[in-house]
Order: sequence, then structure tokens, then C-alpha cells
Amino acid sequence: MGRYSKEYYLKNIKKIKVNNRRYYQTHKKEILKRAREYNSRNLDRFREIHKIRAREWRENNYKKWRKNIKDYYEKNKNKYISRIATSCYVYGKKRGDYTFKKIDGPKNECKECKTNKNLQIHHEIYPTRKKEIIQAIKDGYIYYLCKDCHSRSRRSKIVL
Ligand SMILES: [Zn+2]
Repeated sequence: MGRYSKEYYLKNIKKIKVNNRRYYQTHKKEILKRAREYNSRNLDRFREIHKIRAREWRENNYKKWRKNIKDYYEKNKNKYISRIATSCYVYGKKRGDYTFKKIDGPKNECKECKTNKNLQIHHEIYPTRKKEIIQAIKDGYIYYLCKDCHSRSRRSKIVL
């Protein structure tokens, strides 16, 4: 709180906190908008801080974290299975003794910016069977995004 002297701040901490909260509540939209703009201009910094905070949170809330993952998995089983299956087929991965036969993957470039570096598979739909995955790739529902475009597309769905 650079606006106050330390002494004043400590003496009026409750009042200041209430005021800050009230200020935040009435200006929430602008504050969040500004934060979002700032973060998208400083994406590396944002990612770094996000990583550190997430790690700290995980360490302090290990059980909750495990539970969240489990709950998320239960609710999104198809997504998980689809992601794993897609990468097994597209990259011809080995699982135990079994090696998946490669299928024709998506076009080898980021759909947004056309780079061919740091590509990640992006799903718009989540088929789990081989046939359906092949069809989804053909129909353009599964394609590559580069790491930057991918995290941007995910982040645009998150309200900061
Ligand atoms: Zn890209």
C-alpha cells in the first residue's frame, strides 16, 4: 500500500481493507480488464508467476489438489481418454508392449499463426475411437496449435 505511511496503514488497516474491497467491488470490471491486458502484454511474466503460485498452492493443498484432479477426471473422462488416444495414434506411441499404428496427423502447422514450432494437439471435440479421431482430424476439429496460441486459446476462456 504505497499510498499510505506504514504507521497510518497499521493503525487503519481494517478501514483500509474495507475501502479497498469496496473499491474493488465497484471497479471490478475495469480492474480485471486492465489486469488481463497487462498480462497478455507480459505473457512470459504472467506464466512465470502463475506457475509459482500454482506450485505453492499445490504444496499447501496437496489433498485438495489430488481431489480436484480426481473430480475433474471423473467429470471429463472422455476428454482425457480422447487426448491420450489422439496422441497415441498421431505419434505412434508405445504403451507397454503395444505400439500404436500411426494415423495421418493434422497438418503440421499452428492453425492460428502457421508456425511449425512447439506444436500441441488441440481438440474442439473429444472422440475416443480411432475411426472418430481420424474423422475429426479430417474435418478440422482436431488440429495443431503452437504453445503460445494454445495457451492463449485456453486463457481466453479463463476469467482472470
Ligand atoms: Zn501459433
